[in-house]
Amino acid sequence: MFEKLLVANRGEIACRILQACRELKIQTVAVYSEADADALHVQLADEAVCIGPPPNKDSYLNVANIISAAVITGAEAIHPGYGNLSESATFAEACEKCKITFVGPPAHIIARMGDKVEARRTLREAGVPVVPGSSDVVRDVREAREVAGELGYPVMIKAALGGGGTGIRIIHNAEQMGPSLDAARAEARAAFGSGDIYLEKYLPEPRHIEVQVLADNEGNVIHLGERDCSIQYRHQKLLEETPSPAVSSSLRRRLGEAAVKAAQAVDYRNAGTVEFLLDQRGKFYFIEMNTRIQVEHPVTEMLTGVDIVREQIRIAAGEHLDLEQGKIWFNGHAIECRILAADGDRGFAPSPGRVTRWEAPAGPGIRVDTGVGPGSTISVYYDPMIAKVICWEQTRSGAIARMEAALRGMVVEGVRTTIPYHLRILGNAYFRRGEVDTHFLERRMTPAEEG
Ligand code: ADP
Ligand code: ADP
Ligand code: MG
Repeated sequence: MFEKLLVANRGEIACRILQACRELKIQTVAVYSEADADALHVQLADEAVCIGPPPNKDSYLNVANIISAAVITGAEAIHPGYGNLSESATFAEACEKCKITFVGPPAHIIARMGDKVEARRTLREAGVPVVPGSSDVVRDVREAREVAGELGYPVMIKAALGGGGTGIRIIHNAEQMGPSLDAARAEARAAFGSGDIYLEKYLPEPRHIEVQVLADNEGNVIHLGERDCSIQYRHQKLLEETPSPAVSSSLRRRLGEAAVKAAQAVDYRNAGTVEFLLDQRGKFYFIEMNTRIQVEHPVTEMLTGVDIVREQIRIAAGEHLDLEQGKIWFNGHAIECRILAADGDRGFAPSPGRVTRWEAPAGPGIRVDTGVGPGSTISVYYDPMIAKVICWEQTRSGAIARMEAALRGMVVEGVRTTIPYHLRILGNAYFRRGEVDTHFLERRMTPAEEG
């Protein structure tokens, strides 16, 4: 096992990883920007190194400074968390070159799955159902209209290197294609450094269902069941749960088999998530694979008892998976609310500031993952997610009731939060019946539907 590990991230996920290291008795190094000198993750680590000015590009995305911090402190491994450098093949390669273990898959697998066109092709060839769409990068408007004509409108334009819900567009007819294609390309180039785009058939009312996988270096692959992440604002997840109200045990088995097959097709290593869309007829289609720990991993941990971050570190250290598929149990129901410092009633406008009061909920079946405490400053520079509240209970209705009580008891003053908005979701009749799809927020959270 490693003696010392550097966490190349901030906020709740940095704290989560530091906690896993403490349990494994690994010494820790935090890195921080000038805006984060007093942050919780800095206090939790054994050592901390400043890696630059507040903007992400100067600090948490600064490969040279992060690698230098690892070399200077003698860290043998780097855990990238999610976001930031977690899906950067360049960063994973830099670690490999400097003989530092990157906690994640090898660089070439990150690159292969990070290119969504390549990932789609690979999995289609492996026999995993993939959303119908272009088989390659779409070169020009003529080709785009041709492909869209075959698929039938509406279609979606997506960036080949896209992520985080950015750059996704719905196209309803051939006339829209020209201007949208140019705009999508420009947006993709600005956000991801490549203007490559592809097309997918637009599924009208899908659920977002994803499957957690774990793979060790000996080729053992298991899955830890699904997460339903259909509650999304502009393609960004806001509330996740497991099991999905739409997934039967036989569908779970088929989803799990498809996810394992996807991982095996690329000789996957470490933790990963295979994302699918599920249509109303119960058919599912691959959309992408995330080659990192995911924000919503705690709901899976609550059901299975598997510490996914610990498994990531163990696998990276060369230990083999001692979990067997047949011994993975899915017990009860878990829900996660991503609490943002943002105003849910005003388009999730960020609400930065100083947290003057902070009381996190606690009790049986309640878990709070956060990087914030009393006196913390919520900076404009970073993601507005300040905490994840996760509730477990035997039944879905029990988990909802527990979450409602937890959120009502949570006190955050100084910044606006999405707690009131999350309480409205939890109280929504459609949500309570489990009747959700990716359009839930825009269609079911209107004054008329809420009654
Ligand atoms: P998850 O599936 O884990 O919920 P998200 O898509 O919500 O993942 O992304 C997690 C975090 O990483 C968010 O802060 C998101 O903005 C960021 N992120 C994900 N992919 C990218 C990307 N390709 N470029 C920039 N940020 C990203
Ligand atoms: P990202 O890499 O930004 O996470 P994804 O490909 O995972 O992008 O898609 C993000 C979300 O966009 C999905 O969860 C879903 O809500 C929506 N979406 C993606 N592809 C489709 C599609 N073909 N039809 C309908 N909705 C889609
Ligand atoms: Mg996605």
